[in-house]
Amino acid sequence: MIDLEFYSPLEEIHNPLFEQKQVKVFIKRDDLIHPFISGNKWRKLKYILQKASQQQKRHLVTFGGAYSNHLLATACASAKFGFASTGFVRGEAVENDVLSICRIFGMNLIFTSRSSYRDKQNLFKSHYGDNADAYFIDEGGASEEAVKGCEELIAELKEPFNHIFCASGTGTTAAGLLQGIKNNQFCAHLHAVPVMKNGQFILDEIKKYAGNEQGLTVHTDYHFGGYAKTTPKLINFIRHFDSSTGILLDPVYTGKMVFAVLDLIEKNTFTTGNKILMIHTGGLFGLLGKLPDFRSP
Ligand SMILES: *Cc1c(COP(=O)(O)O)cnc(C)c1O
Repeated sequence: MIDLEFYSPLEEIHNPLFEQKQVKVFIKRDDLIHPFISGNKWRKLKYILQKASQQQKRHLVTFGGAYSNHLLATACASAKFGFASTGFVRGEAVENDVLSICRIFGMNLIFTSRSSYRDKQNLFKSHYGDNADAYFIDEGGASEEAVKGCEELIAELKEPFNHIFCASGTGTTAAGLLQGIKNNQFCAHLHAVPVMKNGQFILDEIKKYAGNEQGLTVHTDYHFGGYAKTTPKLINFIRHFDSSTGILLDPVYTGKMVFAVLDLIEKNTFTTGNKILMIHTGGLFGLLGKLPDFRSP
């Protein structure tokens, strides 16, 4: 049985800005779900793993960048639930702490040129095409199963919110949250903050699963130069948030999303009395590759 009992409490965040603008801000601590299968990665993997197991697959094959939270989550989940695992890593061979931990969990890593990485189905077929044990998991876990897993977050909420925010890479998590809002007749507006340039494309991804984009706003101006790019302004923001709340953000995903929320509050986007929920999608190991950015004061 592939399941995990977990803890993801809701916490209120206090800040003089919130009092001044008369809004209430909460954070759902999905980062506490699991140290390695953290945040949205457990939600995204849950039904994928169940499906692989039902199909009697024993070897999970997936894809990611050199600091991928998804590779790490898949490596750990594979070890936990008895699968072998392989990760195709985008780009030239490198070593870093995230990849080392993937290896410790038993993941076999295959470095792949950026051009061949583009055709993931082909990579899978050429290496594992005649291997009946192997199960393909797309980059970031993007799939119907992942959407279904992310929907469940909404059913866990015991009080209403006017606005819900999440960071977006592929948009799968946002698609799940939007579905969850609809299926549970939850009256919140969803805001996705893409962490890369030209993030408008996640709308198509979200529409693919959720049908339409009703009840959703995509904020494309908070990428700070692109995927995994940072600026001193973002780094200082994270430093200030973390040191005043005790909640760690990563500069790749959640740091940009939380920055967006505070910026939008500052700009009077919300109405007096509004309740805002931020989803902490975890991913703290992404911080490891970015620690040098925090070294200068
Ligand atoms: C993977 C990840 C995301 C992006 O999720 P998508 O479903 O790809 O949009 C957001 N936050 C964190 C911390 C992640 O690791």
